[in-house]
Amino acid sequence: MKAIVVSATGGPGVMRLLEGEDPGPRPGQISVRVAAAGVNFIDVYHRTGAYGLPLPFTPGLEGGGYVAALGEGVEGFAVGDEVAWKSVPGSYADLVVGDADEFVLVPEKVAVETAAAVMLQGLTAHYLCNTVYDVQEGDTVIVHAAAGGMGLLLTQMVKYKGGKVIATVSTDAKAELARQNGADHVMRYEGFGAKARELTGGAGVAAVYDGVGKTTFTEGLGALRRRGVMALFGQASGPVPPVDPQDLHRGGSLILTRPTLADFTATREEYLQRANDVFQMIEDDNLLVRVGETFRLEEAPEAHQLLESRKTTGKLLLIP
Ligand code: NDP
Repeated sequence: MKAIVVSATGGPGVMRLLEGEDPGPRPGQISVRVAAAGVNFIDVYHRTGAYGLPLPFTPGLEGGGYVAALGEGVEGFAVGDEVAWKSVPGSYADLVVGDADEFVLVPEKVAVETAAAVMLQGLTAHYLCNTVYDVQEGDTVIVHAAAGGMGLLLTQMVKYKGGKVIATVSTDAKAELARQNGADHVMRYEGFGAKARELTGGAGVAAVYDGVGKTTFTEGLGALRRRGVMALFGQASGPVPPVDPQDLHRGGSLILTRPTLADFTATREEYLQRANDVFQMIEDDNLLVRVGETFRLEEAPEAHQLLESRKTTGKLLLIP
C-alpha cells in the first residue's frame, strides 16, 4: 500500500509518500480501498504538532472508498460496499483499516467522493447549527471563513433552517462565492462585530460560529445578543488567549463552548443519524458540496500549503 508518512512535525514538506505492507483487518475491523481522502484543517494541526500525535503517523481522518476485506465478526458490510468515514487515522493512503463502527454505508445516489467531502465538515456543520446552537427561523448568526470547507456547508445548513447568515471572508473572490452560496450579508473581517450589531438593529447575533479563533474571537463575543452562543470550533488563525468568565457576564449572560465532532457522534446511533441527515440533504439537492480542488496523494504538501495560505475554497480532496 501507499501512504503519506510524517516522521517529524513541521512544514508541508515533512509529508512523504512511502510504500508499506497492507496490514489487513483485525477482528472487528474492515479495510477499505480509498477513492478520496478529505483534507481538513485538523490535519495541519497534526502535521505541525499543534495537536500532538505519536510519530511517525499517516495524516488524514476522513474519506470514502470501497470495502476491500472484512475482519472476523464484522456484520453489516460486504466486500465492494461504498463506505465513508470521518475519523479513521491514516486516511492519506490508498488503503485504510479501522473498526467497522467508524464506517457508514454511502447511499446509492451519493457519489463516494461527495461522501468523502462531507463526513468531517458536513457532520460538524450539522451538530453546530442543530445541537450546539439550534438555529431558529429568523435568527441571525455569524459564519466566519464562509467560503472555506466548513463555511460553505454551515451557511447552507443555517439557511435551510430559516436563519440569516452574516459571512466573513478575506477576498473578493471568496465574497462572491459566499454570496452565491446563500449568505445574506458578506463582509471582510475588519469591523465585522460593529457591522453585525448594526445589521441586527443593535440587538446582536444569536450565535457566532468561529473556526478562525485568535483574530476573530474577542470581536465575535462583542457581537452576540443577550444569552447568545459563541461556538468556538477551531483556530485557523491561532489559539484564543485565556478568557475571563466575567466577560460573558458583561456581554449579557453569554454562552461559550468549544465543541468537537467526537462528542456529537459519541454513539453509533448519533453518528448514523447525522450522516444520514447530511446524505439526505445532498440527495434532496438541499446541500451543494463544492470540491474546490483535488490533488494526487503525493501532492498532499501542496494541498496543505494552499489551505494554510488561505488560497483555497470549499473542500480539498486527495485522490490516491
Ligand atoms: P477552511 O477551508 O475553512 O480553511 C480555513 C479558512 O480559515 C481559510 O480559508 C481562511 O478563510 C480562514 N482563515 C482566517 N485566518 C486564517 C489564518 N491566519 N490562516 C489560515 N486560514 C485562516 O478549513 P476547514 O473547513 O477544514 O476548517 C475550518 C475550521 O473548522 C478549522 O479551524 C478547523 O479546525 C475547524 N473544524 C473543527 C471541527 C470541530 O468539530 N471542532 C471539525 C471540523 C473543522 P478566509 O481567507 O476567508 O479568512
